[in-house]
Amino acid sequence: MADLPYATCPYNKTHRILVLRMPQHVLKCQKSYMGPPLKTCKYNAAHRVLDMERHLTECREFKNFMDVENYWRSFECRKPKTSYDE
Ligand SMILES: [Zn+2]
Ligand SMILES: [Zn+2]
Repeated sequence: MADLPYATCPYNKTHRILVLRMPQHVLKCQKSYMGPPLKTCKYNAAHRVLDMERHLTECREFKNFMDVENYWRSFECRKPKTSYDE
């Protein structure tokens, strides 16, 4: 049996939450959270962090997003020489 991916709740480090359930969990946990306000990651709403710049250096969704951007950019630069022969 494969290990299910668990992540630590951004609002309470003692919470270990299934990654799939995290979006609903953070909404619930947010309501009872008393600490400094956390910022929501643009690339994954389940990511709540104090320091967004630092987070983006290690955010996997942000990295994926940039990879896709770079992929399409390199694709645009290298237009195929023979596209459609009419
Ligand atoms: Zn929690
Ligand atoms: Zn993130």
